[in-house]
Amino acid sequence: MSGATILDGKALSSRLLAQLRERVEACQARGVTPCLAVVLVGDDPASNIYVRSKERKAAKVGIATRDHRLPATTSTQALLDLIASLNADDSVHGILVQLPLPDGVDEQRVLLAVDPRKDVDGFHPDNLGLLMLGTPRFVACTPQGCMRLIELAGVDPAGKRALVVGRSNIVGKPVAQLLLHANATVTIAHSRTRDLEAEVRRADIIVAAVGRPELIRGEWVREGACVIDVGMNRVDDGGSKPKLLGDVEYAAAAARAGSITPVPGGVGPMTIACLLANVVTAAEATCS
Ligand code: NDP
Repeated sequence: MSGATILDGKALSSRLLAQLRERVEACQARGVTPCLAVVLVGDDPASNIYVRSKERKAAKVGIATRDHRLPATTSTQALLDLIASLNADDSVHGILVQLPLPDGVDEQRVLLAVDPRKDVDGFHPDNLGLLMLGTPRFVACTPQGCMRLIELAGVDPAGKRALVVGRSNIVGKPVAQLLLHANATVTIAHSRTRDLEAEVRRADIIVAAVGRPELIRGEWVREGACVIDVGMNRVDDGGSKPKLLGDVEYAAAAARAGSITPVPGGVGPMTIACLLANVVTAAEATCS
């Protein structure tokens, strides 16, 4: 079926985590234990799973985590107060506010309140601005993961046509910036794009971050293209539990692509590894 190289994000993230463990040990030798504060508001089941998985992986590499679980009724002000206290706490190096926040909480105000030097998610306007200028500090984790997977594919974006499908602030826009800095010719497609198929057909690199199961048909994929599928769509197919599908029609795309990420096991594990790398970088900055 597939001529494509399968880009194994699980294996790559394990290698990254092993390197991180060494950096954590070096911090500890200097009296600093990297610490991530996790703020989870409400009881969204998917958010619960992500947070647990992040905390498990953090523990594996020796990063301490501090859990702040708050009810869905928490006010914006209460969250701002918590973030102010985490900003002021020298033993906390990274702050992660799990999104989405419940309706009624002012997400932008909350993200803006995080100290940019502790913004390991890379969502603060300062960090997004630095990325835009080409002098990044903390880069959002999923876009970073996408770039590492493109590197794993052995694809140099320079001069290539890269298509990013999706323009969210947390995936589409930052990954487009990273591809631009890597000298690709970048197109960003979105819900108002007139002919998505034509855009996909001419792309050497496709990053799909839409949230629509198998929106990108395999037959649209150019022979030899590098396909990075960020999408995570839980679809009920009548089985005992929902099936996880990407934004790309995997089997048909894999038959044409040069390299492709599976869902699951592609971008997802890389997102967590890149988050933890950001936490260690934040901690290293405080080591004397
Ligand atoms: P958003 O919902 O914020 O953005 C989706 C984007 O897709 C929007 O820009 C939207 O366009 C665009 N879009 C919607 N429909 C179409 C269409 N028919 N054609 C072209 N573009 C379209 O999603 P996120 O960026 O947060 O996430 C995208 C996907 O990635 C989701 O499945 C999410 O679960 C997954 N994800 C996975 C992560 C991982 O670690 N693997 C991490 C983060 C997200 P418009 O702006 O015009 O509305």
